[in-house]
Amino acid sequence: MMLACAAMTLGCLSCANSKKAQADETAATEASVQVPAFNADSAYLYVKQQVDFGPRTPGSEAHDRCGDYLAAKLEAFGAKVYNQRADLTGYDGRTLKARNIIGAYNPDSKRRVLLCAHWDTRPWADNDPDKANHRKPILGANDGASGVGVLLEVARQLQRQAPAIGIDIIFFDMEDYGTPQFAETLTDDSDTWCLGSQYWSRAPHVKDYNARFGILLDMVGGRGATFLKEGVSLQYAEPVVKKVWRAAKKLGLENYFVDEHGGYVNDDHVPVNEIARIPCIDIVNCDLNGELSSFGDFWHTLDDNMDVIDRNTLQAVGQTVLQVIYNEK
Ligand SMILES: [Zn+2]
Repeated sequence: MMLACAAMTLGCLSCANSKKAQADETAATEASVQVPAFNADSAYLYVKQQVDFGPRTPGSEAHDRCGDYLAAKLEAFGAKVYNQRADLTGYDGRTLKARNIIGAYNPDSKRRVLLCAHWDTRPWADNDPDKANHRKPILGANDGASGVGVLLEVARQLQRQAPAIGIDIIFFDMEDYGTPQFAETLTDDSDTWCLGSQYWSRAPHVKDYNARFGILLDMVGGRGATFLKEGVSLQYAEPVVKKVWRAAKKLGLENYFVDEHGGYVNDDHVPVNEIARIPCIDIVNCDLNGELSSFGDFWHTLDDNMDVIDRNTLQAVGQTVLQVIYNEK
């Protein structure tokens, strides 16, 4: 028994060694894909720089100035930049100057992946526990700036080391101008959200635009955030959900990217899926234990400021996105 056991142990060891050697060889052939290290300090700074403009509500001076900042950043990081301007009408009948900002990398490649986030912020803190705040604009550190901040850091990495494919980074405008809760409309108002992405999906920045898939980031910087597999994403782009969650797991980030179904979210990925017909997922904070909101209790309140932003969350999302796009061939 003892001998057999020892022999077995030896056998297993050598077996394990040869397996390890094989694994090392595989790793060596795969090593040509070097995934850059995401820098959460940079991403945090890009979030803060947006917040420092103040609320980026459509029609405001802060919105104008932040738009210029974002376009200049993408340009400085080597993207071919498009400013797509449009007059879009809000739920209240106001026509506002919208601006989708697009940075294209390797624009001639037919093999493309789309990364997106909204850069406008909500004009009304209509989920604030204090009713007196409902008509005040939010700072949108998490709801708006976090996704854009992560993608600016991705852009910086794209300039330093090009992946095998083309990438388009789109900052959508006027996602968060949807009918406020205090308006008490009786009609279905889902179309009053995501105005910038609806516009782009009907009229992309280049003719016959296409991408393999898209990844939308929204509310990706909150402390203690978790990301669940969102319903619309599963409906239109389940293989992409699986790809992204697999990448996160490989990085040991399954505490952030939880293997559970979340709810259905009306976000910029809806028009990208339904109008542009590009399979697009939403990485969006989903906290099923939230008291005020499943998007975090500071969602659409005056508390959505830099205090809620955690570098660890930015890191988890940013590194996962890099892991996915650098492994595309
Ligand atoms: Zn929002």
